[in-house]
Amino acid sequence: MTETMDTTGIWTAADSRALDAYARRQPNRTPLQRDERLWELLGEPEVEPEIELVTGLPHCTECDRPMRPFAAPKSLYPDTVARGGHGLCITHAKHRRDAASS
Ligand SMILES: [Zn+2]
Repeated sequence: MTETMDTTGIWTAADSRALDAYARRQPNRTPLQRDERLWELLGEPEVEPEIELVTGLPHCTECDRPMRPFAAPKSLYPDTVARGGHGLCITHAKHRRDAASS
């Protein structure tokens, strides 16, 4: 890999291609997965989420609103509600807890 690297210290597209080729040659590599923290740090906040992100989300069994993943920023999942557990959004999960405790 190093023989194809640019020696100026500036990362180039050729360096990226060389790194990709190096990574593809590694045996037993694990499949690439999206890193949620990097996604949040590097993603632009105004970027609309992919359609699959919203349509693939579970919906609250009470209000049928889509629920974003735990700890996911609302900016990445506009028009979603926070998850409250047991298939409910956070609002309806609280209602259930309040009803159970009274
Ligand atoms: Zn709900």
